[in-house]
Amino acid sequence: MTGNVLSTSAPAFAPHVVAERLRVDWNLMGTLRAVESERDQNFRLDTPDGARYFLRISNRAEKQEVVDFRIQAMAHVSRWDPGIPIQRIVPTLSGADRVLITDGEGVIHMAHMVSYLDGITLSEISSPRLALEPIGKMLARLGRALRGFFHPAAGHELLWDISDVTRLRPWLEQVTSMPHRDAVRRVLDRFEEFVAPQLPGLRAQVVHGDATADNVLVRRDDPAMVAGILDFGDMVHAPLINDVAIAMAHMVENDSDPLAGAEAVLRGYTTVTPLEEQELQMLQDLICARLAATVIITAWRGARAIGNRPADPRDDESVARRLTCFSAADPEDLLRRFRAACHAAPTSSLSAPDLMARRGRVLAPGYSLFYDQPLHIVRGDGVWLYDESGRAYLDAYNNVAHVGHCHPRVVEAISRQAATLNTNTRYLHEVILRYGERISAYLPPGLEVCTFVCTGSEANDLAFQMARCFRGHTGALVSDYSYHGNTELVSRLSSADFPIRGGKDFVRDFPPPDKYRGWLRDLDPALTRKHVAARADEVIAGLAAAGHQPAALLLDSMFVSEGIFTLTPEYLQTLCECVRAAGGLFIADEVQGGFGRSGEHFWSFAFGDVVPDIVTLGKPMGNGHPVALVVTTREIAGQFAKGPGYFNTFGGNPVACAAALAVLDVIEEDALQQNAKDVGLHLRTGLGELAKRHGCIGDIRGTGLCLGVEIVMDRESRQPAPAQAQRIKNRLRDLGVLIGTTSRHDNVLKIRPPLIFSRTNADHLRAALDKSLLDCGIESSPGQVG
Ligand code: PMP
Repeated sequence: MTGNVLSTSAPAFAPHVVAERLRVDWNLMGTLRAVESERDQNFRLDTPDGARYFLRISNRAEKQEVVDFRIQAMAHVSRWDPGIPIQRIVPTLSGADRVLITDGEGVIHMAHMVSYLDGITLSEISSPRLALEPIGKMLARLGRALRGFFHPAAGHELLWDISDVTRLRPWLEQVTSMPHRDAVRRVLDRFEEFVAPQLPGLRAQVVHGDATADNVLVRRDDPAMVAGILDFGDMVHAPLINDVAIAMAHMVENDSDPLAGAEAVLRGYTTVTPLEEQELQMLQDLICARLAATVIITAWRGARAIGNRPADPRDDESVARRLTCFSAADPEDLLRRFRAACHAAPTSSLSAPDLMARRGRVLAPGYSLFYDQPLHIVRGDGVWLYDESGRAYLDAYNNVAHVGHCHPRVVEAISRQAATLNTNTRYLHEVILRYGERISAYLPPGLEVCTFVCTGSEANDLAFQMARCFRGHTGALVSDYSYHGNTELVSRLSSADFPIRGGKDFVRDFPPPDKYRGWLRDLDPALTRKHVAARADEVIAGLAAAGHQPAALLLDSMFVSEGIFTLTPEYLQTLCECVRAAGGLFIADEVQGGFGRSGEHFWSFAFGDVVPDIVTLGKPMGNGHPVALVVTTREIAGQFAKGPGYFNTFGGNPVACAAALAVLDVIEEDALQQNAKDVGLHLRTGLGELAKRHGCIGDIRGTGLCLGVEIVMDRESRQPAPAQAQRIKNRLRDLGVLIGTTSRHDNVLKIRPPLIFSRTNADHLRAALDKSLLDCGIESSPGQVG
């Protein structure tokens, strides 16, 4: 520890020398008071007019660029989030942000002046716990403000940097208390083995790095208001989580229950900046590392009598007590507590019944809720959703969060673009073009003209308008019990029971490729073409009799609403041939089935081996951000453009396109289509195992990560068992796993998780489903299922 600022005594300028510089450089005079510091010489200046300032004279060993780093960082924070109470640089008369000052030995020191912040430290208030959550929040704001800051000296060596705590090992002998020395050694051993190897993978940035109880001020009249975050002297580029760990280790120094105090800091922090799972898992070790570093450095400095503050044995005891407390806590228990603290959103005082009552008053009665016991979800992360109590649910339902809830890449793309510009398609903007070019490359040649909208409903509405416009035909073929959206036109195209009934003379239902209980049951595939053609001709003739030629066949290529079926070439090719022969187009609704969900293909229509005329996309396209798309041929789009044209205020706005681009990036880089294939197969195999034990599983269908499990009274009759399916779904929700149900009878368990679902997640789902089936006591003759 030679040559660094901690082994070099703090500067010791005489007050009159300092006073003279203040007069010359800042034209300030008044009373100077020394303020203690580990390594610098600090003064408070009180001027006769009542103003206060703070002067820091840096240690001789301090490098100029490091001081510059701190000054620049403070300026950056003030610019980015002026509401954060930090000290502001007070420039000299000539506008400089620092001066050089030479001591009696000719050594040059840097000095800078900052504004003085009024307030009291935690040790001065009677109930410090009150202040901990607000402090956590403010620290997170500071972290956010520093996120985009960089400086060449950001990576400077810092003894206090806990990422490097094992460097302190040679000074372990300085810790005279053997129990303390052993405790510290254990922390260092664990750090070396488990923590250090993970650090390079954590998100890192410039952090404050010294949120101790002495460095945070709260208001005298209201301790829940943070009045100042002081001392930017330990700033360094480090994992962001270090900052949280430091605050949790130090803010609780006078707390009778340090773990509960630390939870409060964490709760505040995560309301502003959620933590990643890995960070959360490392928190206990990092807190212990910081406390261990404090024990060693204090002992070492005490032994050398360095610094201008005499060592106080009570400080040592307090640190050791906290170290014992945090290191003795059961890691699983502590993680659970920390996790709960993270997920306790500010709304946690709201109960589900209260929210439901308010909802009843505020929202239209047409809205419905999932599950007998509705969920109050406050946070999402990957495949997990968290309720207000911090309970985690494995999400095997939400296909919209295609690459996982709140995927950082998508969140970042949205926030970056939202902070830059959000307008509409009447201005030139590149991001929409980039998306159009990229998505066309995924589609068969010819499908290359894009119209951006906001929802799947809008996409299908527009697609059908285009189809009508193309040849002037008006009729539609849709599959029986389909769902395509909620506009007036599209709800008529949705044969599932949805708002608008009647007025459907231009629409004809066509049976989906249901081989389990439908018309294709047990049918020789060779005969399928004949059956499909006969039925299609019949339906088209029916349309003609009502005065309509087919404008389009519209199919959800995964038939999710119908009960989850997979297209086959015999089915789709034959159907399309008949429709096209009658002058209609084929619109592939990929709102459910697109973007690699099927594992086998990027688009589900590919199972039918037909190139559509129009493709509609939505739901997963923006991972939850509203963005949807119609892609068609130049000829069809050109014909439509002869009409009044099309404008959609929000459709294809730069933020939506940035989200959509980020989704494509993640799908590609994380090979999510392949993951859907592998994990889907693994899950299907697991479900097949369950079917051997649970006779109510009549059929398992679907591909990739869109699977349906049909619940029946018995396999012989194949009679649908909707009440049982509902019980299974609700029991699974109680067990912490989310799925849905679908089909006309609502008896098909719908499993459609984010594509990042892992084999472990799949095993978790299977085990929970097994338990749910047992708990629901639904039994019939078990056996093999297809
Ligand atoms: N098409 C299909 C196949 C759908 O499943 C849905 C929504 N469930 C839609 C269209 C409508 O999409 P949105 O809710 O975004 O309007």
